[in-house]
Formats: sequence, C-alpha cells, structure tokens
Amino acid sequence: MRLKVAINGYGTIGKRVADAIALQDDMEVVGVTKTKPDFEAKMASMKFDLYLAKKDGAELFEKAGIETCGFLEDLLGKADIVVDCSPDKVGAENKKIYERLGIKAIFQGGEKKDVAEISFNALANYDQAKNRRFVRVVSCNTTALTRLIYQLKTNFKIGRVRATILRRISDPKEDKKGLMNAIMPDPIALPSHHAKDVKTVLPDVDIVTTAFKLPTTLMHVHSLSIELKEKVSREDVVTVLEKEPRIMLVSEADGFTSTAKIIEFAREFRARNDLFENVVWLESIAIDGNDLFVTQAVHQEAIVVPENIDAIRAIFGVEKKLSIEKTNRSLRIGEKNF
Ligand code: NAD
Repeated sequence: MRLKVAINGYGTIGKRVADAIALQDDMEVVGVTKTKPDFEAKMASMKFDLYLAKKDGAELFEKAGIETCGFLEDLLGKADIVVDCSPDKVGAENKKIYERLGIKAIFQGGEKKDVAEISFNALANYDQAKNRRFVRVVSCNTTALTRLIYQLKTNFKIGRVRATILRRISDPKEDKKGLMNAIMPDPIALPSHHAKDVKTVLPDVDIVTTAFKLPTTLMHVHSLSIELKEKVSREDVVTVLEKEPRIMLVSEADGFTSTAKIIEFAREFRARNDLFENVVWLESIAIDGNDLFVTQAVHQEAIVVPENIDAIRAIFGVEKKLSIEKTNRSLRIGEKNF
C-alpha cells in the first residue's frame, strides 16, 4: 500500500518535502496547494496535482492559465495524511479543517508545540510518534541541536549543554527588506527559545541557548559546549559522530572554510543545494577539561525534510530503523562524507 500524502503550503519546506515523498516507494503525493497564481504555482502544477489552499482566488488561477483540481478540502478527501507546510502559525488555523475532516497531520516548527500531540525528531523520539494523529516536526535549529545532542548522549554521559546559534536572517528566495549591516541578538534577554524547543523532544537535557541574527541567507551556524561527565577522547567523539549518517563531518583541510564553501559543495552534490545533514567541522571538535566543543552548520531549507518523511511513517506505525534507512537511501544521506 502506498500512503497518499497531501502537501498544504508549497513554499521552501513544502516543495522539498513533496519531492522527497516522490522518491519513496511506499508513499505518493496526491496533490499540493498554492495560494497565489505565481511562477511557483505554475511549476508546482507541472509536477503535481495543484489545489487551491483558500476558497477565493480560483478565477485568478484560471486567468493565469494554471490548471487546478479543486480546493484544499477536495485534496484532503483523497489523502491519508497531510503535511502542513504553511507559514508560521497558519498551521494551527489549518488544524481546525484537519480536525473537522478527521485527517492525520504533520506540522512544522513554526507552530507552537501544543499544535500536536508530540514534537518529533526521527533519531531522538521516533517511537513516540507511532500511531499518533498530530505530530510536529521541530524547526531547523532544533532538529540540528537535537540530532547532535541525541547522538552524544546515547554514547556518552553528558551534563549541561550551552549553545550559541548564529541565525541566517532569511532564506535566499526572500526579497523583503532584511537585516543589511548589523548583528541582532535575538532575543536580547536570555535565553533564546531554542533550548525550550529542544526540551520538547529531549526533556531531560540541561540546555541554555543564546541566538543572534546575521545578514546571511545560506545557513545557520551553532557553537556548542557540552559538559562531559565521563572520560572521553576527541577521537571517541569523532567516531561516534562519523557513525551517524545524518551528521556529515567536513574538514577545513579540504577547503570547507565557511558556509559559503559548504553550500558551494552542496551545489555540486545535490538538487537545490540541499544538505539534509548536520554539517560538523572536524577541526571544531575539541575537548578542554570536561567541556566538549563542536561547531556545526545547518542548511535551514533542507534539514527537516527527512524528519517529515520519517514522521509520516511513524504515524502509520512503521519501524524506526526501516524508515530511517529508507529515507536515508532515497535522499542519498550519508553517501558522501568528507
Ligand atoms: P514559505 O513562506 O516558504 O512557504 C509557505 C507556503 O505556504 C507559501 O507557498 C504560502 O503561499 C503558503 N500559504 C500561505 N498561506 C497558506 C494557507 N492558509 N494554507 C496553505 N498554504 C498557505 O515558508 P517555509 O519557510 O516553507 O516555512 C513553512 C513552515 O516550515 C513554517 O512553520 C516554518 O517555521 C517551518 N520551517 C521553515 C524553515 C526554513 O528555514 N524555511 C526551516 C524549518 C522549518
């Protein structure tokens, strides 16, 4: 049986999740929604059945010569599950429709945690999502923090985690006026919300985060310091991180000197220069006394894509290992580590 998946909201995350679903042998995209008849809607209609996210605007699509197959509710009637990739806080509004129609749904990290029964990361709490109706895939920053911390905490005894998050101001496609020549502590009063969000998946981690917005669009960067509660060598840490396909180690010695170089590599390596993995700089892994230091880069547009695929399978009761291996294989995760 192939699961029929609807995508509500075909933007940065929605288009990537749709393409990733199209690569799976156990699920298919039954349709996607758009709100405006722009070039993105035209391109979406060339790949997938296109539906209107809202009741108004049908004549605008018609005028633009974009064929549509109906409204959101028509699409939901054909689907087993909907992945909501609408803008921040819109998912909570859409949930009322999903509840009324009795359809299962996955939400994204821009929604509050109470939009769903659980917040999800495939490595950290896959089994808790099994057979649920509403699941929230945590944000790009939280996904990256959770993956890294989970991998360390399942292999070593760790204590407090302190992380500084350097956030890209917007995605590359955004052309609204942005932060041009400044670095903004966000928030200025500590802590940032990311620590609280990590705890929605890993409740027992002692974590405090600070965050800054920077005038860049390529990637986020995280600088972490993690207390080690047992004797661990740098090599032990490298070995443990190397073992996890969703963590990619790159080296300054290979020319990976900045996020610009990582994205240049990704342009050669993957469609849309998508990096689904946490990208950890090998040389940044260092131990001083009881403190482990790690710096990682996070491709915000792509990192949550495999988690969405795994969340779909978890909701339908598929085993964790099977799902993660299938997702990794189809998206070529872990294929090429530097
Ligand atoms: P986006 O703005 O690129 O895409 C959102 C899409 O939803 C647009 O195509 C928009 O037209 C459409 N839309 C607007 N109103 C709608 C409605 N009522 N119903 C259905 N669709 C509607 O946004 P995005 O960056 O893809 O973010 C989507 C979600 O994913 C948010 O919760 C966000 O926080 C989360 N997220 C974003 C990133 C990122 O870096 N972009 C990373 C991880 C998670």
